[in-house]
Amino acid sequence: MKPFKLNIQLLSLALLAFAMVGTWLGTAVSSMLVSKKNLEQNYLIENQYYAQKLALTTDSLFRNMFKSLKMESQDGEYLTKDSNAIYQELKHTLDSTTFFNSMLFVNQKGYVLASAPDMSIKGKQLSTVGAKAALKHKVSLVSKPYVGVTGNLILLISVPVFDDHGGYKGFLAGTIHLHEENSLTRVLDKHPKHKNDSYVFVVDSDGNVIYHPEDERINTNAKENKAVQKALKGDNGNQEVINTRGVPMLAGYASSTSKWGIISQTPKHSVMEPTLEMAKQVSQIAIPFMIFVFLISIVMLKTIIKPVRDLAEYARNISENETVPVPRISGWYYELKELKRAILLAVDSYQRQLHYVENESNLDPLTGHFNRRSLEKTIEEMESYSILLFDLDRFKAVNDQYGHQMGDEVLKYIAKLAKEETREKDLCFRLGGEEFLIILPETDTEMAETIAERIRKKAEMTSSPTGNPVTLSIGIGSSAKTAKHFTDLLNITDQALYKAKQEGRNKIVIAAKM
Ligand code: GH3
Ligand code: MG
Ligand code: MG
Repeated sequence: MKPFKLNIQLLSLALLAFAMVGTWLGTAVSSMLVSKKNLEQNYLIENQYYAQKLALTTDSLFRNMFKSLKMESQDGEYLTKDSNAIYQELKHTLDSTTFFNSMLFVNQKGYVLASAPDMSIKGKQLSTVGAKAALKHKVSLVSKPYVGVTGNLILLISVPVFDDHGGYKGFLAGTIHLHEENSLTRVLDKHPKHKNDSYVFVVDSDGNVIYHPEDERINTNAKENKAVQKALKGDNGNQEVINTRGVPMLAGYASSTSKWGIISQTPKHSVMEPTLEMAKQVSQIAIPFMIFVFLISIVMLKTIIKPVRDLAEYARNISENETVPVPRISGWYYELKELKRAILLAVDSYQRQLHYVENESNLDPLTGHFNRRSLEKTIEEMESYSILLFDLDRFKAVNDQYGHQMGDEVLKYIAKLAKEETREKDLCFRLGGEEFLIILPETDTEMAETIAERIRKKAEMTSSPTGNPVTLSIGIGSSAKTAKHFTDLLNITDQALYKAKQEGRNKIVIAAKM
């Protein structure tokens, strides 16, 4: 597997993706925040209106209850003390209206004359709070919730009954059984937003719950609730509250004319679902758009990055010594232009250096003369020329006497001397060991001899690095007179050199004259 390498393309893609996701997150979160805030505000206001509407509904419900009871109380039966007739009357009324769970008529001493449905309390004297209050005040009343004689938690709605002379004869009452289905539950039960756990509850003027969708909350006190407190003060409004279970609620509250409080509330967390839905919808619109922008950006990034990558690739190939053509890159922005210029410059100077090193290897490192390798190339271009081939006399003895290092110094010295005694256009070669070749272009044998003699004499007359002169034996060959072919010429000239050695050294022998 290829090792993972970070590169500018990956990095910029990652950056682009990061920017896109960041933008999307920003959009989604901000739309969620805005939507959440709006929804909360809406819920608060909706709950307030709903509570107000229910307050009116409740008021009118109780008004109608009283109206119905009052009309009923005009009936002559209640003055007859005929409990059976009264029972029939009560039963008829109970069946024809849907206001009450039960009805009863109680005389001025508190004895039940009849109840419908028949609760077998006929003749019993009532001492419940509801009955006591009705008897005491002798006016139309809605009681506090209390447990009636039958064990039901009830509200007692009562009107006084008077005879024709204004004499108090007792009271006619309807009950609402708070733990059972009743006229209040029928009005309040259906919260339009019940799906998101919204609900309504009603408290009496003491803050006791008289209606709640959860039965166990009925008859508990809810005065802790801030919305309840405000409703009981007679206010209509809305606010965030914490309910008895510690759940934050968006509450609307209203008070009824009977000083009850009606609270409609929605759990705050139920805003989350529509909020998330909103974010989802925003994303559905935004994401295709972002993908489009992403793709366009990738294309644009490519045109920015590709030339840089090409340049990098070029630089890598060059550094690995591959021969690659210069990439066609337009420096269409500042950094690219400068980079391209710098890299091409560096590559150019690198190649020059390479060239130089190659050139150097045509030279003998010790003497700086051309070496045997470069000889062939030189000869190819040559037309007519002479050559001098020379060898140091008894050089072995120099090495033996003064050491190899001193031998090298002597070789350098002779190479320099040869260079100095020849012309600019003449080419000096070290063929190996202490054997040298000088090519003299467009030079005849006579001229070559003059030059050879100059060199020989100079060596003979000058102290070498050892302190003593060294002598040379020289063979002279000429392309015109000796041999046309260079290899033959070199061979014959070598024989001339050999002859010079044999004739006692420190000599010049012209091959053509042999
Ligand atoms: P002659 O040519 O006069 O017959 O005698 P010579 O002593 O020069 O004989 P020969 O050509 O056989 O010996 C050449 C010696 O040169 C042998 C070798 O040790 C020495 N030599 C060859 N190349 C180098 C070199 O690069 N440096 C040194 N110091 N000595 C070298
Ligand atoms: Mg030799
Ligand atoms: Mg020699």
